[in-house]
Amino acid sequence: MINIVIFGAPGSGKGTQSEKIVEKYGFAHISTGDVLRSEIKKGTELGKLANDYISKGQLIPDSLMTDILASVYDSLRGTSKGCIFDGFPRTIPQAESLNTLLAERGEAVSAMIELDVPEEELVTRLVERGKTSGRADDNEETIKKRLGVYHAQTSPLIEWFDAQGKRYAIDGLGAMERIFEDICSVIDKL
Ligand code: ATP
Ligand code: MG
Repeated sequence: MINIVIFGAPGSGKGTQSEKIVEKYGFAHISTGDVLRSEIKKGTELGKLANDYISKGQLIPDSLMTDILASVYDSLRGTSKGCIFDGFPRTIPQAESLNTLLAERGEAVSAMIELDVPEEELVTRLVERGKTSGRADDNEETIKKRLGVYHAQTSPLIEWFDAQGKRYAIDGLGAMERIFEDICSVIDKL
């Protein structure tokens, strides 16, 4: 299977570009943010717990997040020739767990595609999204916290994937179609 990690700061366009990849390649799409938001909507115990973290702009604990990821991955595996990981891994321990989880299933990460977007553009996009998203974390105060968490806990993954020779950085600023073409040229070479 082609296993692609779509990577970037909050608001970098991971969800938007993932949908386009799904449409063109028919890959399965795991968005950890969407999984958690659906649990919140259903009012499950997991949803209640997740909401405590998300509304504060914090990450859900690694071990819980990894368990969720493994169960979603196993439910989707075999349904398509590729899988997009959107929003996972977000920490180095999560990346290590992903490697183990995939290796145990005879799989590996094929590529990490990084959407590179300047900070001021991220804030603009998220504030704009907040006007209609209804998301508890799309307000200016929480956005600042999420970006802080991204820099502290998630951005070290750029070098981590780079060291494995799996990182492909793409300019995430500009026309959505151009960004998508750049992504396709990475996928088509895998
Ligand atoms: P984007 O706008 O690029 O899609 P995002 O940061 O807005 O990214 P989601 O990926 O939807 O949003 O995640 C929303 C929240 O869900 C995170 O801020 C975090 O609290 C929680 N979350 C999602 N994935 C993880 C993860 N892998 N580990 C821990 N918490 C996570
Ligand atoms: Mg998203």
